[in-house]
Amino acid sequence: MHKTKIPYGSTQKPNNRAPYAKKVIAISSGKGGVGKSTVAANLAVGLAQMGLQVGLLDADIYGPSIPRLLGVETEKLRWNDDNKMIPSENFGIKVMSVGLTTPKSDTPLVWRSSVAVSALMQFLEDVAWGELDVLIIDMPPGTGDVQLTMAQELPLCGAVLVTTPQMLSTDDVSRAIVMFQDIHVPILGLVENMSYFIAPDTKKRYDIFGSGGAQKLCSTYTIPLLGQIPIKSDILNLSDQGKIAIALGEFETKKMYESIVRKIREVI
Ligand code: ADP
Repeated sequence: MHKTKIPYGSTQKPNNRAPYAKKVIAISSGKGGVGKSTVAANLAVGLAQMGLQVGLLDADIYGPSIPRLLGVETEKLRWNDDNKMIPSENFGIKVMSVGLTTPKSDTPLVWRSSVAVSALMQFLEDVAWGELDVLIIDMPPGTGDVQLTMAQELPLCGAVLVTTPQMLSTDDVSRAIVMFQDIHVPILGLVENMSYFIAPDTKKRYDIFGSGGAQKLCSTYTIPLLGQIPIKSDILNLSDQGKIAIALGEFETKKMYESIVRKIREVI
């Protein structure tokens, strides 16, 4: 991959490396493993189900799970006649990920952040995305270079943050909330994932990771709680098979994701 030169802009007056996208939304989290990529993939497919043209850029360079979630992990990068990379397509959305550039799914990406950022700029500029209503960016977890650069290089219309209820996760996501507020990116809301578990046999509810964490954060930082998604086996099993729960999951699972998608659609 050639290295793109990056003139760093400010986050108050960002550059626009994606003029083909009407709206750009970042999906972020405080830490890894909270289900951020799963939420990003379901929101992207949900917006496409509403008739929007949607692109999903996997910017989670150190844990690119989007290709597997969308069942395109065996596809290899292809170029068109204009020398642009052709995004993969599945479930009605266009997908690009560094995961598609490595020879095998277990090939580690050992990149300094400057190289990672250059690769992402290339994904914004040198991919044949076409005209998009929404470009969703699955950010790496935390508060680092990639988040900062994206906010400088794209007019982000907002960020959706994902957390689990326990304090270790809500502490981390509060740092991400403050960072986005500091860099002038509006926060569209918080999704609490793995909120609880309903035992399939007894229907008893278990608050495995505690409860009330996201609600408390939302009132502290005055941001909307977009939804609470329980731990569900259909979400886990479908994700492992490259199938998307909002399209192929159980009725209640679809409804939960759809309600979040509707709230986002209303504010963008
Ligand atoms: P992150 O992007 O935050 O690192 P992922 O989206 O990759 O996290 O999810 C981590 C794992 O948790 C995946 O195996 C995914 O299928 C699973 N998962 C995510 N959300 C749920 C849920 N609500 N119920 C059950 N499993 C989930």
